[in-house]
Amino acid sequence: MAKKLARKSIVKKAVAAVRNRTKPATRSAGSRGGRRAPTPTASRKTAGRGKYVYFFGNGKADGDRSMKDLLGGKGSGLAEMTRAGLPVPAGFTISTEACTLYYQEGRKVPAVVDGQMIENLRQLEKAAGAKLGDVKNPLLVSVRSGAKFSMPGMMDTILNLGLNDETVEGLKARTNNGRFAYDSYRRFIQMFGNVVLEIPKDVFEHRFDEIKKARGAAMDTDLDEAGLREVVQKYKEVVRAKSGKPFPQDPVEQLRGARDAVFRSWNNARAIEYRRIYEIPDAIGTAVNVQAMVFGNMGDRSATGVGFTRNPATGANEFYGEFLINAQGEDVVSGVRTPQPINELEHVLPKAYKELRAITSRLEKHYKDIQDFEFTIQDDRLYMLQTRNGKRTGYAAVMIATDLVAEKLISPKDAVLQVDPESVSQLLAPVFDPKAWKALGVTTKGLPASPGAASGQAVFTADDAVEWTRKGKSVILVRKETVPDDIHGMFVAQGILTATGGMTSHAAVVGRQMGKPSVVGAGALEISETAKTCKVNGQTIREGDFVSFDGLTGEVKIGQVATKPSEILQVISGELKAEQSDVYQRFERLLSWSDKYRRLGIRANADQPDQAETAYQFGARGIGLCRTEHMFFGEGRIPIVQRMILADNERDRRAALNELLPLQRADFYGVFKAMHGEAVTIRTIDPPLHEFLPKREDLMVEIARMEERGTKGNALDEKHALLRRVEQLHEFNPMLGHRGVRLGVTYPEITEMQTRAIIEAACQLAKEGTKCVPEIMIPLVGHVKELRDQKTIVDRVAKDVMKEQGVKITYLVGTMIEIPRGAVTADEIALEAQFFSFGTNDLTQLTFGFSRDDIGKFLGSYQDKKILDKDPFATIDTVGVGQLVTMGVQKGRAARPDLKVGICGEHGGDPSSIHFFEKAGLDYVSCSPYRIPVARLAAAQAALSVKVGD
Ligand code: ADP
Ligand code: MG
Ligand code: MG
Repeated sequence: MAKKLARKSIVKKAVAAVRNRTKPATRSAGSRGGRRAPTPTASRKTAGRGKYVYFFGNGKADGDRSMKDLLGGKGSGLAEMTRAGLPVPAGFTISTEACTLYYQEGRKVPAVVDGQMIENLRQLEKAAGAKLGDVKNPLLVSVRSGAKFSMPGMMDTILNLGLNDETVEGLKARTNNGRFAYDSYRRFIQMFGNVVLEIPKDVFEHRFDEIKKARGAAMDTDLDEAGLREVVQKYKEVVRAKSGKPFPQDPVEQLRGARDAVFRSWNNARAIEYRRIYEIPDAIGTAVNVQAMVFGNMGDRSATGVGFTRNPATGANEFYGEFLINAQGEDVVSGVRTPQPINELEHVLPKAYKELRAITSRLEKHYKDIQDFEFTIQDDRLYMLQTRNGKRTGYAAVMIATDLVAEKLISPKDAVLQVDPESVSQLLAPVFDPKAWKALGVTTKGLPASPGAASGQAVFTADDAVEWTRKGKSVILVRKETVPDDIHGMFVAQGILTATGGMTSHAAVVGRQMGKPSVVGAGALEISETAKTCKVNGQTIREGDFVSFDGLTGEVKIGQVATKPSEILQVISGELKAEQSDVYQRFERLLSWSDKYRRLGIRANADQPDQAETAYQFGARGIGLCRTEHMFFGEGRIPIVQRMILADNERDRRAALNELLPLQRADFYGVFKAMHGEAVTIRTIDPPLHEFLPKREDLMVEIARMEERGTKGNALDEKHALLRRVEQLHEFNPMLGHRGVRLGVTYPEITEMQTRAIIEAACQLAKEGTKCVPEIMIPLVGHVKELRDQKTIVDRVAKDVMKEQGVKITYLVGTMIEIPRGAVTADEIALEAQFFSFGTNDLTQLTFGFSRDDIGKFLGSYQDKKILDKDPFATIDTVGVGQLVTMGVQKGRAARPDLKVGICGEHGGDPSSIHFFEKAGLDYVSCSPYRIPVARLAAAQAALSVKVGD
């Protein structure tokens, strides 16, 4: 039982990510800002309402589904199910506001909250027809944590609270079942001992195992009443020894202790870490649910289980889940006993099964989404204990949303809002090359917990996973089972492979949520964490050996298998026909719905014709950033570029530029053509020139070697000349040095050549009858006069070229806004610029004064200390950098109402940044080709949930 309840480990959204370093989906914008300490010191009003406890029972509830903030997800679900007349054991929810108060009062529950709790307890006793602590007829309750977003790392649920040495006898007498009464009591002591008194679980487990062994019991259920009495006795001794006090016999004291432990657990290290990764605000706090117990451990007509209304891994419309006969709570997910697939319940307890199916379909229709539910059957009677929208893989998210639309349960608009944007990027994840995969024998099989092809080197601890990944290796995290403490390792691994656990185990749930291929419960794996080896069917896998598995089938193989582009990519690249791919069609359907709702245009950052073509296929309509310098690195070009740089007079420089001209022209021609007439923004040369030259140190070594060998003459002289020029070009701060527009100002002939290449390519296309709209973008402008200088050159050359070619084409000249001064004087700059594109990478760098190449050294500490929530280079800092964006847009448009405004920094593909750009009223976002689908969906969600100018 050493495992955390796995199902806690699903966060609000299914989180997806494709490439190696997955990044969890960002919670939509708006939930951030203003938090300091990891305590729920809410800015929220707390005292106003005065109601801290909400009752549910007998068809009535104080709360409902809209009250997740106050009651947590679990509490609001219990209230809503109660209102719908479903069989839910009565109880009450102590609100998240009470949690806030608890922290405000220095970790004490105020009297007003405690008073309301006791009042509600009395009401619960009436509803349940039993009393807490009543020896003859004891009420037993569960105490369950529940925040707005479900979170692992919080406290385990405590079941059977209210039992003591006397009530346990009462329970025995009432049920005529001593085994059941003592089984419940031993569970309670262990849970309470662990959660409230913080005694490690294994101390209890050792005692339990000893007694089982001594009595020859293989399974927990093999212990009889006498055995369980002995366990209870030993457990009480453990409590006394470890906590210094006897096990508390007063049920109200037990209840208060459990309640406070829930509040306390909000701030344990695991919970804090989890919130950090998933960007859940610290301030929201948790609710506490106290609920009358029902018993799945009352015998063979009792059971407990969990399930989903559809398959959360594949999205298939099939009833999905697991149950255990004669068991309670944790048993299903703890791996002590192997649960049965839920369909078998139909044969074992048909009446309860039928009812469960009916109720869960009703819940799905009610919530209009796949439901993840928990239930208990006591003596053939079904009770619902939880329901919530189910977490799912990105793959399943797209399947389910398109199915729900086809079933007319939701509208296309709902579907667009339902799917996490990161999900569509998960669909682009690689698959195995089927031939290479087949060629390798199956070593073993586990449960297919989360789809995707994974191949990498085996590591056996989460820390090793992080370390190996840091060294650039791709790893598979191989564990007996995972626990919430492993989350950092799971996060970086290519895939997760475990020996124990079911489809709802921690590894399975977290794997799905991260969009990480996972195979769990591969029972043949004998893992030694200390030896860092794993034996399987006579073979040994050592640390660093390659392992591959398929998260869709559960097959595990030893060896490395090449992965292959996903079906979507195969369609995009033309290898597969769209009609042959169901998943592609659904993907495209969802994205075309998105296109109907979005306002923002979507462009791509692409420098090469093939990238541009891919981006176009993904739905980009236009290029927001074509970095011309990337073209300089093409084959055979560097020597020409170097000659241009090394020239110490204009004539030589022009000669080199003349060689570059046809090459650039051909590049532009290709990119224009791939964009099928959509606008293409081309940035003139941006980086400092020394980036194109060899490193000073390398040159010095080379020269020294040549001299040593006695080399003389031309070759050596050339190297010396090169070194001198490199030294001349050396800058103390190249990022702030001679780059961007400054190069164009000092070497106008570079701008001339680039303009000529662009306009000539456009003219050529015009002659061929293909439309194209070049937008020439001058980078790093901070002063209007810089732009004016360059614009004069561009216009002059463009005019010349058009005259030579006898063709007239439309082009725009604009600038990047990436220097704070540019944003601040946007009104002046807009007098010259026909468009702006926010270069948010440099703008972030220059606004914070953080070097984007060096932020890694301190970002971690900044996040630990809550100075920054997120990496500002990944998600835009709306407060500071964002203000410059908003100012730039407003001032720019004030001066030139038809100014076109976009963004081409990394933030263009980040969903929560896209929300911000929607509000800022930009015309388009531009991002890398593979992020285009994410951006399309995120832009639609932004348009549906925020307004321009908010
Ligand atoms: P988690 O958030 O980890 O899922 P829960 O509070 O839902 O934790 O509790 C876990 C399990 O404990 C439930 O699925 C159920 O089996 C059992 N449980 C909780 N409350 C009750 C109750 N009132 N009666 C019977 N079983 C309960
Ligand atoms: Mg639960
Ligand atoms: Mg820049």
